[in-house]
Amino acid sequence: MFPAPFEYHRATSIDETLALLAQYGGDARVLAGGQSLIPAMRFRLARPAVLVDINALHELSYLREEGGVLAIGAMTRDAALETSALITSKYPLLADTSALVADPVVRQSGTVVGSLCHNDPAGDWGVTALAGRAQIVIRGATGTRTVAIDDFLIDSFTTAVGEGELALEVRFPTPPPRTAGSYQKIERKVGDFATACAAARVTLDANGAIADAGIAIGAAGPHAIRVRDAELLLNGSKPTKDLIRAAADAARKLADPAADNRGSAEFKKDMAGVLVRRALVAALGRLGVEGLQ
Ligand SMILES: Cc1cc2nc3c(=O)[nH]c(=O)nc-3n(C[C@H](O)[C@H](O)[C@H](O)COP(=O)(O)OP(=O)(O)OC[C@H]3O[C@@H](n4cnc5c(N)ncnc54)[C@H](O)[C@@H]3O)c2cc1C
Repeated sequence: MFPAPFEYHRATSIDETLALLAQYGGDARVLAGGQSLIPAMRFRLARPAVLVDINALHELSYLREEGGVLAIGAMTRDAALETSALITSKYPLLADTSALVADPVVRQSGTVVGSLCHNDPAGDWGVTALAGRAQIVIRGATGTRTVAIDDFLIDSFTTAVGEGELALEVRFPTPPPRTAGSYQKIERKVGDFATACAAARVTLDANGAIADAGIAIGAAGPHAIRVRDAELLLNGSKPTKDLIRAAADAARKLADPAADNRGSAEFKKDMAGVLVRRALVAALGRLGVEGLQ
């Protein structure tokens, strides 16, 4: 199907983008990689009267590590993370995720920030952003604000980005020493959205206890969910099989998935627990902690 008619503007600067968004208000939508917005328009699920294309804003295409954070610009494609030496060497949670979003063709166009702004209940990046304690930088006519991912993901397909605003970048804290993460996903076939997915990030202290953990699940509610009960169980404890099983159980209890053609609610709930266990075992394995399977 063809999209409903719309007006198209190719912005050439952040200021011009903001001016266009202010001018057209609720009628305008930002176009980044177009991998969610264009299909939604073709199915007439979205009918924006005006598209503000930000693909010419090359200044928003970057992976920058400085001041204790990794900043990923709004026009940085998923594929850029997959091939980045910085990401593969230092951010295993992000490397895992970037290799599992959709398929290689979609990843050439789709952006990390666009995925977060889209906030699909089964999207991958929201899960990783919660476990990684990401923040989103948003700019509008009145200035720039930074929003924690927990406050950014409001409801299915709804985020803290308001009318007239542009998300500029997502920031992940640079992992302290003895930190690793892992992203796990079950999909029906390569390129599909998650049937279930989970992210784990752990930092060990000098004695081998878990100093800080981030756990999140996806395709398990209206948007990605942080599993605080699992984090509380893990923080301050030595990693054992029983501890990991308890954290997985907390995820399984919290998951509230919808049944669809990817699986029953009961199956997806079970998989949320299974994937949290796998993510924790993999993350700890990357830190040299073995025998937790
Ligand atoms: C075949 C296929 C398979 C897919 N499989 C998966 C999958 O397995 N997992 C997954 O997570 N995703 C999947 N996707 C979605 C894909 O990852 C999208 O690219 C991503 O969700 C949106 O990124 P985008 O840059 O394409 O955003 P767009 O499609 O351009 O935009 C999406 C929404 O976000 C808004 N937006 C985008 N950027 C900004 C910004 N900087 N500021 C404010 N608003 C903004 C847009 O206005 C729009 O409402 C799939 C897509 C396809 C086509």
